[in-house]
Amino acid sequence: MAYKFVDNYREQGARKKLVLHLASRGIEDKNVLKAIGKIPRHFFFDETFWNQAYRDIAFPIGDGQTISQPYTVAYQSELLHIKRGDKVLEIGTGSGYQTCVLMELGANVYTIERQESIYKHTIKVLPGMGYNAHFFFGDGSRGIADQAPYDKIIVTAGAPFVPEILLKQLKIGGVLVIPVGDERSQKMVTVIRISESDFDRIELDTFRFVPLVGDQAW
Ligand code: SAM
Repeated sequence: MAYKFVDNYREQGARKKLVLHLASRGIEDKNVLKAIGKIPRHFFFDETFWNQAYRDIAFPIGDGQTISQPYTVAYQSELLHIKRGDKVLEIGTGSGYQTCVLMELGANVYTIERQESIYKHTIKVLPGMGYNAHFFFGDGSRGIADQAPYDKIIVTAGAPFVPEILLKQLKIGGVLVIPVGDERSQKMVTVIRISESDFDRIELDTFRFVPLVGDQAW
């Protein structure tokens, strides 16, 4: 992929329109909209496809994987209610676009990817853009126990169930956001850790993610 870190008026304009579009779809968190308005999403695309970068669609990034739809990224980010300094585990680094949004919100991000080619690509691209997350390679369905606990956990691939092991890595008061369902569609689920043993679970809208593949997944 050819990376040209050029943010022209055309892309800036398209990004402003995308922000207005996301607000019209119900995204209210001003910080989330600001982050999306700031991050040049076209940097994640080959130049040939820059005209697709600010459409509200998922897009293939190779190895059968996708950069998530901007609405989905905004929706999950809003649900996390990130506070500056929050320690966030992201499962499914992918292109790293969601990682950048979390970092713009002030999170300290630990992100894990199971596909080596994607991992190797993203660990070069993000620092080149100034986003120095903590990158891990491996099966994130088990979380990253030796870095736990986390204020927030976000899963960016569709899971068949909520892995218990992830709940154990949440701080009390922490939030997990995870799409749960079958391979065709998932409900967005948020789980809040109320105490050592109590969790509140809320089911929200329907989405379609690529599958979470691993020990605690498909
Ligand atoms: N959030 C990403 C973005 O903004 O581009 C999109 C993520 S993509 C929809 C889902 C990613 O999860 C894929 O890159 C996939 O390889 C990864 N994935 C699937 N199962 C995983 C697992 N068990 N551990 C870590 N990553 C996983």
